[in-house]
Amino acid sequence: MITESAGARSASESALLPTYPEPKIGFVAGDGAWLVDDDGRRYLDFAAGIAVVSLGHRHPAPLAAAHAQLDRLWHTSNLYATEPAAALARALSDRFGGAQAFFCNSGAEANEALLKYARKATGKPGVVALEGSFHGRTLGALGVTGQPAKRAAFDPLSTAHFAAPNDVASLHAACADDVGLVLLEPILGEGGVIPLSQEFLAAAASLAEELGALLAFDEVQTGVGRTGTFFAWERLGVRPQLITLAKALANGLPIGCLLVADDAPRGLALGDHGSTFGGNPVSCAAAVAVCETIDDELLAHVRAMGIRLADGLAGLPGVIEVRGTGLLLGAVLDGPAQRVVDAALDAGLVCLVAGPNVLRLAPPLVVGAHEIDRALEILEEVMT
Ligand code: PLP
Repeated sequence: MITESAGARSASESALLPTYPEPKIGFVAGDGAWLVDDDGRRYLDFAAGIAVVSLGHRHPAPLAAAHAQLDRLWHTSNLYATEPAAALARALSDRFGGAQAFFCNSGAEANEALLKYARKATGKPGVVALEGSFHGRTLGALGVTGQPAKRAAFDPLSTAHFAAPNDVASLHAACADDVGLVLLEPILGEGGVIPLSQEFLAAAASLAEELGALLAFDEVQTGVGRTGTFFAWERLGVRPQLITLAKALANGLPIGCLLVADDAPRGLALGDHGSTFGGNPVSCAAAVAVCETIDDELLAHVRAMGIRLADGLAGLPGVIEVRGTGLLLGAVLDGPAQRVVDAALDAGLVCLVAGPNVLRLAPPLVVGAHEIDRALEILEEVMT
């Protein structure tokens, strides 16, 4: 049994591989846009577990759905049907306008399924991806991640062709005959909150068509309401053939999903892919509740709160530019962003970096106007 007195930090000091920096704080509870540390101090959470807890901590809808499913059935494997996975696939298909789902446990796994799907559907191994992109840490997903610092220690990786974001000429230069997949994040999240232009996305779509390649969006970070539409592609005028989702889909329970449009070429078939935990009933039940909760009213709220936060950020000292859409925002600073994140944490605000000089804010979608104003006050204090 885990007790609070055992302490989240001491556990991490003793027994976890050091793949992350030593945490300064251990959290023990959350509620809405607030977290509580092991000393009982409250923090405004503008990171949401890296754009995951999008309905806020302990939101009643996924909480009740997960509780009910925990009491009913935890796991059967994909050898048997369960209603939560079927219901989630139906909900996502309806949102997408006709699609089939493959469920797994994380964003990287969703992208692994995508890479295999595209290889099988097109017979071509090449992938065009973007410099600065992030698609996950497994070897396949890392192979299409355009960040040399994350790749270097693990070379040789698969060789993707990397293009510069929003540079159509560079995209053309990256396209070779072997390309079977063009993979884009509509907003590069980890890479600095860089939105792709509609012109660039349209060029990518026609290039993919010319090459006989599939067009896929990695919506692991931008999907499930984060940018003010359920999928980011909905306001960009380009509908991809495949998308990957994870992070916010079950509001914090592990889940990943590859969604394939009904009109996309057929790829994976019986026996080509699988995942023991994929489609887990508890995660899927929570995810169905998440999908039901993200209605037009909540999406309008995301857009309104996004504008309020972006306007406030633009007026802060040291902010050069504000990028992003809805509640996925990056403030480009005139100095290191980590210093601001550390000082904000000390002052009771949890936020993120996205590259050396970009402060990334991804609060829960349910965040209130007064909470945004309080976060801006804290940032102003620590940035002045
Ligand atoms: N794709 C994008 C766009 C991401 O932002 C992330 C994680 O930050 C991933 C993939 C990898 O997801 P996971 O960490 O769940 O494997």
